[in-house]
Order: sequence, then structure tokens, then C-alpha cells
Amino acid sequence: MRSSTRPTPTTRGIKRIDLAYVQLATSESARDINRDVVLEIIRSQQPVSRADLARASGLQPSTVSSIVEQLIAEKWVKEGAIERRPRGRHPTQLALNDGLVILTADIRPKQAIVALLDLNGRFLAREVVPLVSEPEIAINKIISCMKAMRAGNSNHSFEGIGISMPGRVDSESQRLILAPNLKWGNFNIKGAFEKEMRMQVELTNAANAALLAELWSGRLDGIRNAVLITVSEGVGGAILANGQIVTSRSGLAGEFGHSPIDPTGPLCGCGQHGCWEVFASSNAALRYYAEIHPEKASVNIHELLRLGEEEDPAALAALTRQATWLGRGLRLVTAALSPEVILIAGDITTSWSRFGPVIQAELEATMLAGDAPQLGITNDGEFARLRGAAAVVLQRHSGYQRSRLKATKAKIPQLASS
Ligand SMILES: [Zn+2]
Repeated sequence: MRSSTRPTPTTRGIKRIDLAYVQLATSESARDINRDVVLEIIRSQQPVSRADLARASGLQPSTVSSIVEQLIAEKWVKEGAIERRPRGRHPTQLALNDGLVILTADIRPKQAIVALLDLNGRFLAREVVPLVSEPEIAINKIISCMKAMRAGNSNHSFEGIGISMPGRVDSESQRLILAPNLKWGNFNIKGAFEKEMRMQVELTNAANAALLAELWSGRLDGIRNAVLITVSEGVGGAILANGQIVTSRSGLAGEFGHSPIDPTGPLCGCGQHGCWEVFASSNAALRYYAEIHPEKASVNIHELLRLGEEEDPAALAALTRQATWLGRGLRLVTAALSPEVILIAGDITTSWSRFGPVIQAELEATMLAGDAPQLGITNDGEFARLRGAAAVVLQRHSGYQRSRLKATKAKIPQLASS
């Protein structure tokens, strides 16, 4: 069953990282960089003529024309209406080709959201798929859903598949290397999708996907240092430092959720005791509530948040305790990275007017020096991960992806053993 979704506010639904990729692209050919620049201007200013593109990019008109021809041949860009002017020439307007679409999945421990998006970030279809813990069965259910979406939209060109994972994905091997709340072992997720769907597949971490979606929306324009924290079954993180998304060795950067807060605390899915996420995740709030009402231990986080909205004292106490721990843990984030902005994504943001101030108060109380970072929530709620997963596919040819694919291991001298 396909479901229609709310429209995006403008046709500029997705936008490329601005400053981030310019630095990354320095080792690439000038033509690739120019192509990215032209594509970005089309994306952000569409509809736009070739002459406007030349003016905005500073490139020669002949260079712009040749890049545009390539983008049209690759189906990224289409020629649209002819602009009517009172006199002179009537230039053909260019826009992103919304006939080019991306299949996406936001995989979580108990369910996946499968969606079809066009180049402008608009949802053409979306469906929730309940999942079991066996990875092969779970992935087959997602694949069946994707095949149905592809069959139902056969008039579109499919660019690829982007998948948001609740864990860390090694950027070189594209294997899931840490997902304590999913427990899919070493199953080859990318391989399973590629074999069945015969399309290129990109896996990405959920927090990084959500951060990329924020960057593409333009909401973080001008911000060079930000941290995004996802709060669901666990607590994840993504880092924008000096204008670039930091993934670091094995894609493991940003795992603040597994910072040790209290070694005598509850056991975490990662095998350690007292990680930040066992105090600050949605699961932690459910545990706090079950401590007060053991007989109601089966409520889920949405029910708990609804109880909180209804002023249920036990629900409010549990969620306030979670929010307090979220704020405390942000001390680690600010001490390590001193971001300008901290964005929270996930369950607790649905009651932000109530719990945001609790987090903010803890954050301000624990600042080492200076003002606290700006605290906010992500723009797109639960759909940020899907838009981000689509953005990863779209960036496959951009500086971000090219650099990632070409990353080589630097050789550093080994520490001398004494
Ligand atoms: Zn842990």
C-alpha cells in the first residue's frame, strides 16, 4: 500500500553540503568539481538557464553547456519550459529531473520504513515494514516492499538504493560493524540487496544520514561545527567539524552513546556497563517508568510520551529523568567538540516544549566556558534518515563519495615497543 505524504515546502528539498565537499574535492579533476558546482546551482536555484548558470558559477558558457549536456545524458537534469522574455532570446530552463528516483529504507530493530524519493527529496511512496530479528527474513521483507514500489513506479528511472542503519557502517567495506541494538551479526546486507535488486546500494549510519539531510535542506548553511544526536532504542551521534561530516576510522566516529558514564550502571547492548545510552535512550525512559509501575512494563515509547502529554506523573518523572541524562551527556559532546549547534532527533523531540528546556538547563549548567551551543531538533522528524539515505546515493558522484571511495590508509610509524 502506497501512502501519499506531505509535500516539501519548496522544490529545493535537497541541497548539497556547501563548504564540506569543496575541500574534499581538491584531489579530483577540475571537471568533476565543476560538475558538482553546476549541479548544486541547478538544485538550489531551479529553474535556471545556462546563461544564469554561467553567471552564478563563473564558468565559461561553453564549459557550462558541456557539463549540462552530460548531466542531461545522465538523467540528473532535464530541460523544461522556455522562459518568455519581452525581447531578446528565450532561454530554456533547466531543473533537476524528478523522474529520477531513489529507493530508501530506514532500518530499525523492530521495523523499517521503506520509501521512494525523487531528486528533489519528495516522497512518492512510503510504507512501514515490521521486522523480525533474523536478518535474512527481515531483509527479504524490505526487498519485497522495494520491488513492489519499483513495479508501481515503472515510469521512473531508478538511481540506486540508500539504506540508513541503526549502527556504524565501515566506509570502505560497507559492512555493518557495530549495531548493539540490531544484533544482525556479520550478515552481508549490501550484498543481499544488490543480488535481489540489481542496483547500486549505499549503507549509511542513521545519525550521519540525519545530519546529511539537515545539510542538504540548507538549514545548517553557515554552520561549520555541529553535532546531531539520535535518541531512539539507543543514542547515536554525527559530527560536522570544520564543515565536514566526520566518520573517521572504520566509520566509528560519533559513538557518544557508548561513552562510559557510570561503570556500575546497567549492562549496555555493546557489552559494557553504564554507557550514556543506557541512561538517556528511549529504552532508558521505559526502564525508569517500569521501575515506578512494574505492572505496566509493556508500554512503548509512543505510549509513554502520550502519557506524559496527559500529565501522568510517572511518565513525566521517567521522561524528565531521561532528558536530564541527555543534557548531562552533552557535556562530553561540548567538551570534546565545542559545536555551534546541537540537534536532537528522535522520540523525545515529539514533546520538545516540555523536555527541551530540561536538556537545555543541564547543558548550560555544565558548560566549561562561554555560551552553550544552540540546542534544537531536526527539521524532518522520522523522515530525516530517509532523505539522508537518498542524499548519500545522490552524492555517489560528488566529492563526498569520490573521496570516500578513494580513501587510502595512511602509513604512520609504529610506536616503538620498549
Ligand atoms: Zn554501550
